[in-house]
Amino acid sequence: MTSVTSQTRLLALLGDPVEHSLSPVVQNAAFQETGVDGVYIALACSAEDLPGFIGGIARAGGGGNVTLPHKEKAASVLDVSSDAVLRTGACNTFWGADGKVHGDNTDVEGFGRALTSFLGRAPVGFRVLVLGAGGAARAALVSLLDAEVSEIFLRNRTVDRARAVSRRIGGERVRVVESAEGVEGLDFDLVVNTTRLGLSADDPLPVDLGLLSRAGAVMDLVYGPEATPFVRAAEALGIRAADGLEMLVQQGAVSFECWWDQPAPVEVMRDALRRVGVL
Ligand code: NAP
Repeated sequence: MTSVTSQTRLLALLGDPVEHSLSPVVQNAAFQETGVDGVYIALACSAEDLPGFIGGIARAGGGGNVTLPHKEKAASVLDVSSDAVLRTGACNTFWGADGKVHGDNTDVEGFGRALTSFLGRAPVGFRVLVLGAGGAARAALVSLLDAEVSEIFLRNRTVDRARAVSRRIGGERVRVVESAEGVEGLDFDLVVNTTRLGLSADDPLPVDLGLLSRAGAVMDLVYGPEATPFVRAAEALGIRAADGLEMLVQQGAVSFECWWDQPAPVEVMRDALRRVGVL
């Protein structure tokens, strides 16, 4: 962004809370690098206000992102939903075009890009343990199924939620594990943490990796300024592990591409995170 004029597009992050989001830092760095005429801000917004914000900003030619706790509600206010929105039931990116509100869930593509970059290959044929059954889990499941993993075991504290997610997204290919002991002695090519465990310093680990007979690699969607407790636990056992920062960059890159129809400057976006000390 060179300067804000009457032509400048507004891109807004809508959620509650939004104060700690890194998206304004990442997106404004990308806008500046590419010279697109937009400004990205974060707006704390209630569930009641969300449809008005999305509709108003999109009709004014803008767009944005949606974060916790509104991703599911956002999916219900779109005129045109991407395949990723329809399959996950969640929307994290919206924009106005042709008088309509369009939406996508870039967590799906962002997860896939980050995972492939971490593994150095697509997870074709992998046996995967997914921990958690919230919005991030749904995005990870869609991406993993599309990447043709062979089998997914899904473990969540609230088993009914895991069953509902499995019915909606995975069907036969996603097996719900009913208890923490249900994964004991099992062998996985990949373990993915999509729970929020690790955000607070006193959280327990999402699974005891020592109970598994093998974990080939670990991907934690949680991120912070330092390695997450789950990444540290994996590395202590000699397991290759990555946190959620690359997914944060990649889902933002896909959002950028939705709004501007041009490739995102991914390295500049990573640099923006390095400048604020989280990468
Ligand atoms: P969500 O929909 O609220 O789901 C939260 C998940 O965490 C649920 O599975 C929940 O289990 C589980 N959980 C919460 N507290 C727990 C506890 N004390 N013990 C066991 N499980 C617990 O949130 P979300 O949108 O999926 O996000 C989850 C995490 O992914 C967050 O940390 C978020 O920052 C991260 N994320 C990262 C990226 C990225 O770009 N890196 C993108 C999206 C999300 P129950 O169902 O039993 O409550």
